[in-house]
Amino acid sequence: MASRPVLRFAPSPNGRLHLGHAYSALFTWAAAEALGGVTLLRIEDIDTARCKPEFDAAIIEDLQWLGLSWPEPVLRQSSRFPAYAAAADRLKATGLLYPCFCTRKEVAERAAGVDPDGKPLYPGTCRNLSPEKRADLMAQGHPHQWRLRTNEALALAGPLTMTSFDLTGERSERQVRPQDWGDAVIVRKDTPTSYHLAVTVDDAFQGVTHVTRGMDLYRATDLHRLLQALLDLPAPLYCHHKLMADEGDLKLSKSRGSAGLKDLRAAGWTSDEVRRRLGF
Ligand code: GLU
Repeated sequence: MASRPVLRFAPSPNGRLHLGHAYSALFTWAAAEALGGVTLLRIEDIDTARCKPEFDAAIIEDLQWLGLSWPEPVLRQSSRFPAYAAAADRLKATGLLYPCFCTRKEVAERAAGVDPDGKPLYPGTCRNLSPEKRADLMAQGHPHQWRLRTNEALALAGPLTMTSFDLTGERSERQVRPQDWGDAVIVRKDTPTSYHLAVTVDDAFQGVTHVTRGMDLYRATDLHRLLQALLDLPAPLYCHHKLMADEGDLKLSKSRGSAGLKDLRAAGWTSDEVRRRLGF
C-alpha cells in the first residue's frame, strides 16, 4: 500500500512569524490537503545564538491561531545534533569533507565569483592544504568549518536531477548543478552541522515525501540532492512557492518590515481574514 504523502513546515525561531511565513505555512497545509497527506512541524533551531525559546513558543501560538495542527510531536533540530554528527562523520570517512580555516572576510576578499545566492564563492583556499599543515592548524585549535569537495562528490554521485511538483499534478525534472555552490560548508564552526546537512538528514528522518518551501531555497535543493545521494537518502519531490514581495494594505502602517502575525492579531485581524488575503 502506498503510504500517504508527508510534508513539513520548517521555520527557524529567530523572530516572530510574519506574513511571508504565514503564506508558506498555509501553502504547505493546503498542499498536504490536496495530496491527501499530512504536514509535520520542524523547528530549525541549529543556530543556538540566534534562535530563542520565546520565538519557538510564539511560532506554535501563531500557527495554532491560523488553525493549523500537526499529527506528531514537533521535531526540534537542536535535539538532533548527534544524527548530524553521524552523517558528517560518514562524509568525512569518504574523504569528501575537509577542514577550512578561512574567515568570512578572507573568503570575501579572495572570492572566485558568486554563488547562486549572490554570496562570495569560496576559492578553495584550504582544499589542498598538506595533511601536516592541516594537522598542525587543528592541533593549535584554529576554528574550522568542514567543506564538501563538491566536484569530486558529484563525480562520485553521477548526474542528479530534482523533480518538482505542482498541485495540478504536473511534474518536471531538471539536472541540478551543486557545483555552482563551490565547496559548500557542510559543518559550521559554531554548530556540528549546517542548514544543508540538517535539512537533508531530517527530511529523510521524518519520511518527508514532498518539500514545499519558498523560491529563495530553489537552488539550495541542488546541494540537498547531492547530499541525499552521498548519504543514500531518498529524494523527495519539491515545490518552491513564490515569495511575498509586496504585502500591500496588509502591511501595518507602523511597521516597516513584514507584518507580524501577532501585530495583525493585536490590530484586530482574524485568522480567516489573513487566510483570505493570502489566497487560502
Ligand atoms: N528553516 C528554513 C527557513 O526558515 C526553511 C528550510 C526549508 O524549508 O528547507 O527559511
